[in-house]
Amino acid sequence: MYFNQKKGKLIIISGPSGSGKTTIVKYLLSCNLNLFFSISACSRPKRKNEKDGIDYHFLSVDEFKLKIAEGEFLEWEEVYQDNFYGTLKSEVLNKINLGCNIIFDVDVIGAKSLKSIFKEQALSIYIQAPSVKSISQRLVARQTESESQISFRLDKAKHEVKEKKFFDYILINDKLNIAKQTVLQKAQDFLN
Ligand code: 5GP
Repeated sequence: MYFNQKKGKLIIISGPSGSGKTTIVKYLLSCNLNLFFSISACSRPKRKNEKDGIDYHFLSVDEFKLKIAEGEFLEWEEVYQDNFYGTLKSEVLNKINLGCNIIFDVDVIGAKSLKSIFKEQALSIYIQAPSVKSISQRLVARQTESESQISFRLDKAKHEVKEKKFFDYILINDKLNIAKQTVLQKAQDFLN
């Protein structure tokens, strides 16, 4: 069972949409930490800058539901209506058994689920944007969501902040360079 696999370690990055967590994940992936990105499955439409099999495994809602039925997920969730997201066992279990470290970019509920499965084998980090206003500015600037999707994500962000106390570490993403240095140190300490 995966509960007994002790070789690789897991870094779970989470926080509200627009908190900058994807930037932090990409930065850590560039730091030679023997880290592999857990490519989630999702059923939302692909954005024009995204690649199937790199950013996500893009599935239809029916394909996603079939994988749920077949027990292929460690955790999954309907993060927004009809937008399912989930962590595939195939992205994680063999790799950690081979000694690879895995990094995740998941929402707060997914992060709590993964932490409860892997416990001290995982480090969970909550990325906190300086304010809801700054989240709103980032979501508007990246031009990937409609106005109603942005307001939904902002609403969700207000709930997610209440969950930050469940994380091993809270990283304030106010000045990106400082956030990067801090998270790198945390990751190195944990992985060594
Ligand atoms: P986006 O649509 O902006 O790519 O992602 C929306 C939210 O879904 C983000 O908070 C992202 O971290 C989260 N997410 C991505 N993959 C997964 C996953 O496998 N599981 C869960 N629970 N959330 C995910």
